[in-house]
Amino acid sequence: MPQPQLSVVVPMFEEEAVLPLLVQRLRPVLEEFAERSGAGYEVVAVDDGSMDATPVILERTRRDWPQLRVIRLRTNAGHQAALSAGLARARGAWVATIDADLQDPPEVLLQLVQRAEEGGVDVVYAVRADRSSDSAFKRLTARAYYRLIRRVVGRHVPADAGDFRLMSRATVDAVNRLPEHHRVLRLVVPALGFPSATVGYQRDPRAAGRTKYSLGRMLRLSVDSLTGFSIAPLRLATWFGLGGALATAVLLAFALVAHATGRTVPGWTSTFVAVAAVGAVQLLCLGLLGEYVGRLYTQLQGRPSYHIASDSLLDVASDSLLDPGTPVGEVRDGELSPAARRPAER
Ligand code: UDP
Ligand code: MG
Repeated sequence: MPQPQLSVVVPMFEEEAVLPLLVQRLRPVLEEFAERSGAGYEVVAVDDGSMDATPVILERTRRDWPQLRVIRLRTNAGHQAALSAGLARARGAWVATIDADLQDPPEVLLQLVQRAEEGGVDVVYAVRADRSSDSAFKRLTARAYYRLIRRVVGRHVPADAGDFRLMSRATVDAVNRLPEHHRVLRLVVPALGFPSATVGYQRDPRAAGRTKYSLGRMLRLSVDSLTGFSIAPLRLATWFGLGGALATAVLLAFALVAHATGRTVPGWTSTFVAVAAVGAVQLLCLGLLGEYVGRLYTQLQGRPSYHIASDSLLDVASDSLLDPGTPVGEVRDGELSPAARRPAER
Protein backbone atom coordinates (compact mmCIF):
# COMPACT_ATOMS: atom_id res chain seq x y z
CA MET A 1 0.00 0.00 0.00
CA PRO A 2 1.46 3.42 -0.89
CA GLN A 3 1.71 6.09 1.78
CA PRO A 4 -1.76 7.54 2.29
CA GLN A 5 -2.37 11.27 2.28
CA LEU A 6 -4.62 11.08 5.33
CA SER A 7 -4.64 8.75 8.34
CA VAL A 8 -7.57 8.83 10.73
CA VAL A 9 -6.71 7.38 14.14
CA VAL A 10 -9.72 6.15 16.12
CA PRO A 11 -9.09 4.77 19.62
CA MET A 12 -11.85 2.50 20.80
CA PHE A 13 -12.56 0.58 23.96
CA GLU A 14 -15.61 -1.69 24.02
CA GLU A 15 -17.48 0.28 21.40
CA GLU A 16 -19.51 -2.57 19.86
CA ALA A 17 -22.70 -0.52 20.14
CA VAL A 18 -21.42 2.48 18.26
CA LEU A 19 -19.01 0.87 15.80
CA PRO A 20 -21.47 0.10 12.99
CA LEU A 21 -22.81 3.67 13.19
CA LEU A 22 -19.27 5.03 13.08
CA VAL A 23 -18.44 3.04 9.95
CA GLN A 24 -21.67 4.20 8.35
CA ARG A 25 -20.79 7.85 8.86
CA LEU A 26 -17.00 7.86 8.58
CA ARG A 27 -16.68 5.89 5.36
CA PRO A 28 -18.68 8.23 3.07
CA VAL A 29 -16.75 11.22 4.45
CA LEU A 30 -13.40 9.62 3.67
CA GLU A 31 -14.58 8.43 0.29
CA GLU A 32 -15.60 11.97 -0.51
CA PHE A 33 -12.14 13.10 0.59
CA ALA A 34 -10.47 10.50 -1.65
CA GLU A 35 -12.65 11.42 -4.60
CA ARG A 36 -12.14 15.14 -4.21
CA SER A 37 -8.39 15.05 -3.67
CA GLY A 38 -7.55 11.93 -5.67
CA ALA A 39 -5.45 10.85 -2.68
CA GLY A 40 -5.49 7.73 -0.56
CA TYR A 41 -6.44 7.42 3.09
CA GLU A 42 -6.27 4.89 5.91
CA VAL A 43 -8.32 4.48 9.05
CA VAL A 44 -6.21 3.31 11.97
CA ALA A 45 -8.62 1.72 14.42
CA VAL A 46 -6.81 1.15 17.72
CA ASP A 47 -8.68 -1.48 19.67
CA ASP A 48 -7.68 -0.71 23.23
CA GLY A 49 -8.01 -4.24 24.56
CA SER A 50 -11.80 -4.48 24.25
CA MET A 51 -13.45 -7.55 25.76
CA ASP A 52 -16.70 -7.16 23.83
CA ALA A 53 -17.42 -7.69 20.13
CA THR A 54 -15.36 -4.68 18.98
CA PRO A 55 -12.49 -6.77 17.48
CA VAL A 56 -14.94 -9.07 15.73
CA ILE A 57 -16.85 -6.18 14.17
CA LEU A 58 -13.56 -4.56 13.11
CA GLU A 59 -12.36 -7.76 11.45
CA ARG A 60 -15.66 -8.17 9.64
CA THR A 61 -15.68 -4.54 8.47
CA ARG A 62 -12.11 -4.77 7.28
CA ARG A 63 -13.05 -7.46 4.76
CA ASP A 64 -14.85 -5.00 2.53
CA TRP A 65 -13.11 -1.81 3.57
CA PRO A 66 -9.46 -2.21 2.55
CA GLN A 67 -8.51 1.19 3.94
CA LEU A 68 -9.43 0.08 7.44
CA ARG A 69 -6.41 -0.97 9.42
CA VAL A 70 -6.83 -2.56 12.83
CA ILE A 71 -4.24 -2.27 15.56
CA ARG A 72 -5.01 -4.30 18.59
CA LEU A 73 -3.46 -3.57 21.96
CA ARG A 74 -2.87 -6.49 24.24
CA THR A 75 -4.64 -4.94 27.16
CA ASN A 76 -6.56 -1.79 27.96
CA ALA A 77 -3.98 0.99 28.03
CA GLY A 78 -6.29 4.00 28.23
CA HIS A 79 -7.47 6.61 25.76
CA GLN A 80 -4.23 8.65 25.61
CA ALA A 81 -1.97 5.59 25.29
CA ALA A 82 -4.22 4.17 22.55
CA LEU A 83 -3.94 7.48 20.71
CA SER A 84 -0.15 7.36 21.08
CA ALA A 85 -0.11 3.84 19.65
CA GLY A 86 -2.15 5.01 16.66
CA LEU A 87 0.08 8.02 16.06
CA ALA A 88 3.20 5.85 16.20
CA ARG A 89 1.81 3.58 13.50
CA ALA A 90 -0.12 6.01 11.26
CA ARG A 91 1.58 6.57 7.91
CA GLY A 92 -0.37 9.50 6.48
CA ALA A 93 1.09 12.82 5.39
CA TRP A 94 -1.66 14.25 7.61
CA VAL A 95 -3.01 12.44 10.66
CA ALA A 96 -6.37 13.12 12.29
CA THR A 97 -7.50 11.76 15.66
CA ILE A 98 -11.18 11.34 16.44
CA ASP A 99 -13.31 9.62 19.11
CA ALA A 100 -15.19 6.49 18.13
CA ASP A 101 -18.49 7.46 19.75
CA LEU A 102 -19.50 10.05 17.11
CA GLN A 103 -19.30 12.90 19.60
CA ASP A 104 -16.82 14.36 17.13
CA PRO A 105 -18.81 14.43 13.86
CA PRO A 106 -16.74 12.77 11.08
CA GLU A 107 -18.04 15.37 8.61
CA VAL A 108 -15.93 18.01 10.39
CA LEU A 109 -12.83 16.11 9.19
CA LEU A 110 -13.39 17.61 5.74
CA GLN A 111 -13.35 21.11 7.23
CA LEU A 112 -10.12 20.33 9.07
CA VAL A 113 -8.54 19.05 5.85
CA GLN A 114 -9.78 22.10 3.97
CA ARG A 115 -8.22 24.43 6.53
CA ALA A 116 -4.94 22.50 6.29
CA GLU A 117 -5.00 22.74 2.50
CA GLU A 118 -5.23 26.52 2.76
CA GLY A 119 -1.69 26.20 4.05
CA GLY A 120 0.52 27.73 6.67
CA VAL A 121 -0.42 25.45 9.55
CA ASP A 122 0.79 22.19 11.05
CA VAL A 123 -2.13 21.59 13.38
CA VAL A 124 -5.85 22.22 12.98
CA TYR A 125 -7.78 21.92 16.25
CA ALA A 126 -11.47 21.16 16.25
CA VAL A 127 -12.81 23.32 19.05
CA ARG A 128 -16.13 22.61 20.76
CA ALA A 129 -18.19 25.68 20.06
CA ASP A 130 -21.27 24.25 21.70
CA ARG A 131 -21.43 21.74 24.51
CA SER A 132 -25.16 21.82 25.06
CA SER A 133 -25.39 18.09 24.38
CA ASP A 134 -23.07 17.19 27.27
CA SER A 135 -24.45 16.55 30.75
CA ALA A 136 -24.32 19.41 33.27
CA PHE A 137 -21.70 17.47 35.26
CA LYS A 138 -19.49 16.95 32.19
CA ARG A 139 -19.79 20.62 31.25
CA LEU A 140 -18.87 21.73 34.75
CA THR A 141 -15.87 19.42 35.10
CA ALA A 142 -14.67 20.21 31.56
CA ARG A 143 -14.87 23.93 32.23
CA ALA A 144 -12.94 23.57 35.47
CA TYR A 145 -10.33 21.40 33.70
CA TYR A 146 -9.66 23.83 30.84
CA ARG A 147 -9.65 26.86 33.16
CA LEU A 148 -7.13 25.28 35.49
CA ILE A 149 -4.96 23.97 32.65
CA ARG A 150 -4.89 27.28 30.81
CA ARG A 151 -4.03 29.08 34.01
CA VAL A 152 -1.29 26.72 35.11
CA VAL A 153 0.08 25.36 31.83
CA GLY A 154 -0.36 28.45 29.67
CA ARG A 155 -2.65 30.34 27.37
CA HIS A 156 -1.30 28.55 24.31
CA VAL A 157 -3.52 25.57 25.13
CA PRO A 158 -6.72 26.07 23.11
CA ALA A 159 -9.76 25.95 25.41
CA ASP A 160 -12.27 23.23 24.68
CA ALA A 161 -10.06 21.43 22.17
CA GLY A 162 -10.12 17.75 23.09
CA ASP A 163 -8.44 15.07 21.02
CA PHE A 164 -10.15 15.88 17.74
CA ARG A 165 -7.49 17.46 15.54
CA LEU A 166 -5.51 17.17 12.33
CA MET A 167 -1.73 17.12 12.42
CA SER A 168 0.97 17.30 9.78
CA ARG A 169 3.57 14.52 9.45
CA ALA A 170 6.16 16.85 11.03
CA THR A 171 3.93 17.29 14.09
CA VAL A 172 3.26 13.57 14.44
CA ASP A 173 6.97 12.78 14.08
CA ALA A 174 7.75 15.35 16.77
CA VAL A 175 5.16 13.81 19.12
CA ASN A 176 6.45 10.29 18.43
CA ARG A 177 9.98 11.36 19.28
CA LEU A 178 9.01 12.53 22.77
CA PRO A 179 10.26 10.00 25.32
CA GLU A 180 7.53 10.98 27.79
CA HIS A 181 5.15 8.37 29.16
CA HIS A 182 1.57 9.10 30.18
CA ARG A 183 1.58 11.96 27.74
CA VAL A 184 -1.54 14.03 27.50
CA LEU A 185 -1.73 14.69 23.78
CA ARG A 186 -4.08 17.65 24.00
CA LEU A 187 -1.31 19.46 25.89
CA VAL A 188 1.74 17.92 24.22
CA VAL A 189 0.65 19.09 20.76
CA PRO A 190 0.06 22.78 21.66
CA ALA A 191 3.32 22.76 23.66
CA LEU A 192 5.23 22.03 20.44
CA GLY A 193 4.19 25.51 19.39
CA PHE A 194 3.78 24.63 15.70
CA PRO A 195 1.61 27.01 13.63
CA SER A 196 -2.03 26.12 14.17
CA ALA A 197 -5.60 27.05 13.34
CA THR A 198 -8.97 26.17 14.86
CA VAL A 199 -12.28 25.09 13.41
CA GLY A 200 -15.42 25.32 15.57
CA TYR A 201 -17.89 22.46 15.76
CA GLN A 202 -20.90 21.34 17.70
CA ARG A 203 -20.24 18.36 19.93
CA ASP A 204 -22.95 15.75 19.61
CA PRO A 205 -24.17 13.37 22.29
CA ARG A 206 -22.61 9.90 22.29
CA ALA A 207 -24.35 7.93 19.51
CA ALA A 208 -24.55 4.64 21.45
CA GLY A 209 -22.96 2.80 24.34
CA ARG A 210 -21.77 4.54 27.49
CA THR A 211 -18.81 6.70 28.41
CA LYS A 212 -15.52 4.93 29.13
CA TYR A 213 -14.29 7.85 31.22
CA SER A 214 -15.12 7.30 34.87
CA LEU A 215 -14.65 10.05 37.43
CA GLY A 216 -11.42 8.32 38.48
CA ARG A 217 -10.05 8.43 34.93
CA MET A 218 -11.02 12.07 34.58
CA LEU A 219 -9.13 12.89 37.77
CA ARG A 220 -6.11 10.88 36.54
CA LEU A 221 -6.12 12.86 33.28
CA SER A 222 -6.22 16.12 35.23
CA VAL A 223 -3.33 15.10 37.50
CA ASP A 224 -1.26 13.89 34.51
CA SER A 225 -2.06 17.16 32.70
CA LEU A 226 -0.95 19.26 35.64
CA THR A 227 2.14 17.36 36.74
CA GLY A 228 3.20 16.65 33.17
CA PHE A 229 3.24 20.28 32.18
CA SER A 230 3.83 22.38 35.19
CA ILE A 231 5.89 22.45 38.34
CA ALA A 232 3.53 25.10 39.74
CA PRO A 233 2.05 22.62 42.25
CA LEU A 234 5.54 21.97 43.61
CA ARG A 235 6.03 25.72 44.00
CA LEU A 236 2.67 25.85 45.71
CA ALA A 237 4.18 23.54 48.31
CA THR A 238 7.04 26.01 48.75
CA TRP A 239 4.61 28.90 49.22
CA PHE A 240 2.60 26.89 51.75
CA GLY A 241 5.84 26.16 53.58
CA LEU A 242 6.86 29.83 53.59
CA GLY A 243 3.41 30.94 54.73
CA GLY A 244 3.50 28.33 57.48
CA ALA A 245 6.93 29.52 58.63
CA LEU A 246 5.72 33.14 58.77
CA ALA A 247 2.62 32.19 60.71
CA THR A 248 4.78 30.20 63.11
CA ALA A 249 7.06 33.20 63.70
CA VAL A 250 4.06 35.39 64.55
CA LEU A 251 2.65 32.69 66.83
CA LEU A 252 6.01 32.31 68.55
CA ALA A 253 6.26 36.07 69.23
CA PHE A 254 2.72 36.02 70.54
CA ALA A 255 3.46 33.04 72.78
CA LEU A 256 6.64 34.62 74.16
CA VAL A 257 4.90 37.91 74.96
CA ALA A 258 2.00 36.03 76.57
CA HIS A 259 4.46 33.98 78.60
CA ALA A 260 6.47 37.05 79.72
CA THR A 261 3.35 38.91 80.83
CA GLY A 262 2.08 35.86 82.65
CA ARG A 263 -1.09 35.59 80.59
CA THR A 264 -0.68 32.05 79.42
CA VAL A 265 -3.88 30.05 79.33
CA PRO A 266 -4.15 26.30 78.89
CA GLY A 267 -4.60 26.67 75.13
CA TRP A 268 -5.80 23.26 74.10
CA THR A 269 -7.79 24.60 71.13
CA SER A 270 -5.00 26.64 69.59
CA THR A 271 -2.51 23.80 70.01
CA PHE A 272 -4.86 21.34 68.48
CA VAL A 273 -5.66 23.62 65.51
CA ALA A 274 -2.01 24.43 64.91
CA VAL A 275 -0.95 20.79 64.97
CA ALA A 276 -3.79 19.80 62.67
CA ALA A 277 -3.12 22.63 60.22
CA VAL A 278 0.61 21.97 60.03
CA GLY A 279 -0.05 18.26 59.60
CA ALA A 280 -2.46 18.91 56.76
CA VAL A 281 -0.07 21.22 54.95
CA GLN A 282 2.75 18.73 55.36
CA LEU A 283 0.67 15.89 54.00
CA LEU A 284 -0.42 18.00 51.06
CA CYS A 285 3.17 18.92 50.23
CA LEU A 286 4.26 15.31 50.57
CA GLY A 287 1.48 14.24 48.24
CA LEU A 288 2.53 16.80 45.66
CA LEU A 289 6.14 15.66 45.88
CA GLY A 290 4.94 12.08 45.55
CA GLU A 291 3.19 12.89 42.26
CA TYR A 292 6.43 14.11 40.73
CA VAL A 293 8.56 11.38 42.24
CA GLY A 294 6.04 8.91 40.84
CA ARG A 295 6.38 10.42 37.38
CA LEU A 296 10.17 10.29 37.62
CA TYR A 297 9.96 6.69 38.75
CA THR A 298 7.73 5.49 35.92
CA GLN A 299 9.85 7.45 33.45
CA LEU A 300 13.01 5.78 34.77
CA GLN A 301 11.44 2.36 34.51
CA GLY A 302 10.88 3.17 30.86
CA ARG A 303 8.03 0.71 30.46
CA PRO A 304 6.08 1.23 27.27
CA SER A 305 2.62 2.67 27.88
CA TYR A 306 1.05 0.15 25.50
CA HIS A 307 1.74 -3.22 23.89
CA ILE A 308 0.66 -3.93 20.36
CA ALA A 309 -0.74 -7.42 19.83
CA SER A 310 -1.33 -7.16 16.11
CA ASP A 311 -1.49 -4.74 13.20
CA SER A 312 -3.59 -5.81 10.26
CA LEU A 313 -1.30 -3.95 7.88
CA LEU A 314 1.67 -6.02 8.88
CA ASP A 315 -0.41 -9.10 9.43
CA VAL A 316 1.60 -10.03 12.47
CA ALA A 317 -0.27 -13.14 13.41
CA SER A 318 1.63 -14.48 16.35
CA ASP A 319 4.39 -13.63 18.73
CA SER A 320 6.64 -16.28 17.26
CA LEU A 321 7.27 -13.98 14.32
CA LEU A 322 8.66 -11.36 16.61
CA ASP A 323 12.01 -11.11 18.21
CA PRO A 324 11.17 -11.77 21.88
CA GLY A 325 13.73 -9.19 22.98
CA THR A 326 11.93 -6.34 21.26
CA PRO A 327 9.21 -4.52 23.15
CA VAL A 328 6.57 -4.62 20.45
CA GLY A 329 4.69 -1.61 21.73
CA GLU A 330 7.75 0.59 21.65
CA VAL A 331 8.10 2.32 18.35
CA ARG A 332 10.77 4.94 18.39
CA ASP A 333 10.86 7.83 15.95
CA GLY A 334 7.77 6.50 14.23
CA GLU A 335 9.89 3.63 12.91
CA LEU A 336 8.68 0.09 13.10
CA SER A 337 11.04 -2.20 14.92
CA PRO A 338 12.92 -4.48 12.48
CA ALA A 339 11.25 -7.51 13.98
CA ALA A 340 7.79 -6.08 13.49
CA ARG A 341 8.58 -5.12 9.91
CA ARG A 342 9.84 -8.51 8.89
CA PRO A 343 6.58 -10.28 7.98
CA ALA A 344 5.44 -7.51 5.64
CA GLU A 345 8.68 -7.54 3.73
CA ARG A 346 8.53 -11.17 2.98
N1 UDP B 1 -11.24 5.03 24.92
C1 UDP B 1 -10.16 4.17 24.75
N2 UDP B 1 -9.62 3.55 25.86
C2 UDP B 1 -10.12 3.77 27.11
C3 UDP B 1 -11.20 4.67 27.28
C4 UDP B 1 -11.74 5.29 26.17
O1 UDP B 1 -9.68 3.96 23.65
O2 UDP B 1 -9.59 3.16 28.04
C5 UDP B 1 -11.82 5.69 23.74
C6 UDP B 1 -13.32 5.52 23.59
O3 UDP B 1 -13.64 4.30 22.95
C7 UDP B 1 -13.68 6.72 22.76
C8 UDP B 1 -12.70 7.78 23.25
O4 UDP B 1 -11.62 7.07 23.85
O5 UDP B 1 -13.46 6.52 21.38
C9 UDP B 1 -13.33 8.76 24.23
O6 UDP B 1 -13.92 8.05 25.29
P1 UDP B 1 -15.39 8.37 25.83
O7 UDP B 1 -16.27 8.76 24.70
O8 UDP B 1 -15.84 7.21 26.63
O9 UDP B 1 -15.11 9.61 26.77
P2 UDP B 1 -16.03 10.92 26.97
O10 UDP B 1 -16.36 11.43 25.61
O11 UDP B 1 -17.21 10.46 27.72
O12 UDP B 1 -15.14 11.85 27.74
MG1 MG C 1 -17.24 10.42 24.19
